[in-house]
Amino acid sequence: MSTAAQTDPMIPGMYVVRQVSKETPDTFTLTLGAENGFGTSSFQPGQFSMLWVFGVGELPISISGDPSASGKLVYTVRSVGEATHSLISRKVGDGVGVRGPFGTGWPVQAARGRDIVIVAGGIGLAPLRPVIYEVLKNRDQYGRLVVLYGSRSPQDLLYRKELAAWARQRETQILVTVDYGGLSWRGHVGVVTTLFKYARLQADRSVAMVCGPEIMMRFVTRELLAHGFSRSDVYLSMERNMKCAVGFCGHCQWGPHFICKDGPVFTYEQLRPLLEKHEL
Ligand SMILES: Cc1cc2nc3c(=O)[nH]c(=O)nc-3n(C[C@H](O)[C@H](O)[C@H](O)COP(=O)(O)OP(=O)(O)OC[C@H]3O[C@@H](n4cnc5c(N)ncnc54)[C@H](O)[C@@H]3O)c2cc1C
Repeated sequence: MSTAAQTDPMIPGMYVVRQVSKETPDTFTLTLGAENGFGTSSFQPGQFSMLWVFGVGELPISISGDPSASGKLVYTVRSVGEATHSLISRKVGDGVGVRGPFGTGWPVQAARGRDIVIVAGGIGLAPLRPVIYEVLKNRDQYGRLVVLYGSRSPQDLLYRKELAAWARQRETQILVTVDYGGLSWRGHVGVVTTLFKYARLQADRSVAMVCGPEIMMRFVTRELLAHGFSRSDVYLSMERNMKCAVGFCGHCQWGPHFICKDGPVFTYEQLRPLLEKHEL
């Protein structure tokens, strides 16, 4: 039997907070489970949900968990305003409405057999984490995995233990940098593009997936193209304010695209005419 939430994309399914874990001073990871056992937990890496915090509002948040883990949905949320603050303040047992999953995903199936190059800035690692899970779980079906990750400071790094564990996997290179290191930081300091000189890249056999602040994605794309990546092998996840998430309301329209349904993941080839216009 299907529920209304499963058939109508505007009706949220009822979920319950199962776990809340602190990643950084302002960022938390929430694990949700369907309240009545119904409700989907399947998604494509890169897709997002609309999370409804009762009495506060609804907001788009990428799914950051393992796509092969059934029965739960995982989100990593940075508190920037009222809705995100209210979401990270949920306690175990509290209810959250969930619509989705929505949008396009990263090309994880199409990228089989190729090297995967992930470039993330700040909270941008969250929508890319499912790709890392997918590659590591199906290790023989992909070439090398290279992750370049930048955050503001060591305290702002997401998934610190996982970063260390991923770095120990075969055929995997994890490079991390911070804008400001402080006295105890022994790693790289500088913006994420400064990591390219340490990365072992083979552009002709790679697919790049990039998520972070828009200015960072512009510079990263420039660097990838300079390293020989083709425009159609560079994927970017775009962020715009949105309401309906199904292409009706127009809030997230960007040129000819609705970020919610045509994206959030696009190739650079698709976005180039828009990214080159700075006023958009
Ligand atoms: C497809 C998609 C996926 C997202 N995934 C995540 C995620 O995984 N984790 C996460 O923490 N956040 C994610 N976001 C951003 C998140 O939706 C916003 O931070 C949130 O809506 C802000 O709501 P608020 O009420 O807390 O803040 P507000 O009070 O609405 O805004 C606080 C500040 O953030 C800015 N802002 C608000 N919404 C956006 C937006 N969509 N894009 C850029 N700036 C914005 C405002 O201009 C303001 O400066 C995603 C957004 C989109 C479109």
